[in-house]
Amino acid sequence: MRLFFALDIPGPLALDIATWREQQLPLLGRPVPAANFHITLAFLGEIPDSRLDALCQDVDAAAEKLAPAAFELQLDQVGYWPRPGIYWLGPASWPDSLEHLARKLGGIGAIHGHEKRREHFQAHVTLFRGCEAAPPAPALAPDFRLSCSEFLLMESRQGKRGVSYHPVAGWELGTGFNPA
Ligand code: ATP
Ligand code: MG
Repeated sequence: MRLFFALDIPGPLALDIATWREQQLPLLGRPVPAANFHITLAFLGEIPDSRLDALCQDVDAAAEKLAPAAFELQLDQVGYWPRPGIYWLGPASWPDSLEHLARKLGGIGAIHGHEKRREHFQAHVTLFRGCEAAPPAPALAPDFRLSCSEFLLMESRQGKRGVSYHPVAGWELGTGFNPA
């Protein structure tokens, strides 16, 4: 199964972001459906089903020690990465503890899978893919508040109508772990 760790963007906030995107940005490349908005903490890639329990146990153990207290992110910045052609929305800053968590989850993923770990963490919600040129700045700067109280292990499935994500397990922040 194709897995990644992520922060979820709740439905109402995702709709607000999609509305802002529609009003403030031209149609660039392929817009990501609002239902797919998320912030990736660590991408694991293909993991055999048989490794799932061990993976979750490792996260349980790490989350007890490492999961940061619940926190808020202010999504107030946009960015463009030319090489993957990604246009994104994200926070200008985030707690160090979130970065530590992302790194730890990437390390656990690397034990159970084979994906190379990413060194640089940039919290972001992908808004468009396949975006060939740098988009114009939005007239109305984004300023969305995201309350984060859990992180999720998500399965990514490729379907006829594109990719969809499905939560496999979740851990509460601040209070140790809580398997979904
Ligand atoms: P698609 O690949 O169909 O365009 P997607 O990229 O959203 O859709 P996945 O490739 O399954 O779906 O990726 C799931 C999440 O992991 C996304 O946030 C994606 O950006 C991220 N991701 C995918 N591949 C990598 C990678 N090699 N390194 C870091 N993050 C990745
Ligand atoms: Mg992809």
